[in-house]
Amino acid sequence: MTKLADILRRQIAATGPMTLAQYMSACLLHPEHGYYTTQDALGVDGDFTTAPEISQMFGELIGLCVAQAWMDQGAPDRFALIELGPGRGTLIADVVRATANVPGFHAAANLHLVEASDRMRKLQTSALPAQQPDWHDTAETLPEDMPIFVIANEFFDALPIRQFQRDKKGWREVVVGLGPDDQMQRGLSDPAPIDALQHRLDDTEPGALVEVNAHATAAVDALARRIMAQGGMALFLDYGGWHSDGDTFQAVRAHRPVDPFAEPGRADLTAHVDFEALARAALIAGCAASQLTNQGVFLERLGITPRAQGLAKGLRGPELEAHVAAHRRLTHPDEMGSLFKVLGLYPSTESPPPGLDP
Ligand code: SAH
Repeated sequence: MTKLADILRRQIAATGPMTLAQYMSACLLHPEHGYYTTQDALGVDGDFTTAPEISQMFGELIGLCVAQAWMDQGAPDRFALIELGPGRGTLIADVVRATANVPGFHAAANLHLVEASDRMRKLQTSALPAQQPDWHDTAETLPEDMPIFVIANEFFDALPIRQFQRDKKGWREVVVGLGPDDQMQRGLSDPAPIDALQHRLDDTEPGALVEVNAHATAAVDALARRIMAQGGMALFLDYGGWHSDGDTFQAVRAHRPVDPFAEPGRADLTAHVDFEALARAALIAGCAASQLTNQGVFLERLGITPRAQGLAKGLRGPELEAHVAAHRRLTHPDEMGSLFKVLGLYPSTESPPPGLDP
């Protein structure tokens, strides 16, 4: 039993069941006992490994993609280079390194990081010794007076979701309550009409479960409005699909799935990203969204194979084997290549970022 489990059980006993989003928020970001505030989440010794932690090629190619998009939009002499949820800072450090020789890019860039956890902010400071980024708690406070070029890898999957189950009358929300043994368990609220799910009545049957990520759509709205008014673009990379379809709420600890209610605050909680909802939020703000593209295809289009071959020339033995395995892991359909997708946002008057189709 964790301290946080005790706090949450007492809270539910006092005020009734909570939404899954409230539960997830507390587990991930509770100021004293939350996962991102207390645990070393990322890497081989942590609970999960992300693409930039697998190989430097990932951040290099994303960096060159951003730099090309910046040049395609006329190389504005002042812009915000933004990462949402930078983790250990590996991706943004690779982006900065890979773009050092792009004429004018560094001189024009102002670095902004959206990061909720102070612990993570410290890791990001160490990864960027020569930079002075501005940190933000949410996307809503990002600059409003310059183009924004945004990257987000495995950010949206960490934002709290709500789940709804359809019955004949409408939707019932999945809530976290207490079972007969006083342990936390899932239950269902009374049916209630949900505006955000009106459009899902056509393609779902009674019994279907869908997920709604209001934090994600709010962040996309804030970014899309800026991209339309100020210029720039955004690249979102994550696991998920075009529709929310079924229960994807999951807990991972030490690279293994665990019960999400067993040790709140000790496991990473995520859900698959509903890219359709992100694209809809962008379109409502007047911004264009690219085709959803598999990560493997995107990285191949950006030239990961020639880059991998170039790096391979300097490697031998186990290092070479690890490098070949990393290339495969990032791109192969049996690994991250097709589970992970890429969505680009861009001004409706411009072309999509390199590697993506309109
Ligand atoms: N992009 C990194 C790390 C992904 S882990 C990589 O690819 O390796 C998710 C990151 O998002 C962490 O840095 C976490 O602290 C941050 N984060 C999680 N929830 C957040 C929220 N609600 N607001 C801002 N940052 C959040």
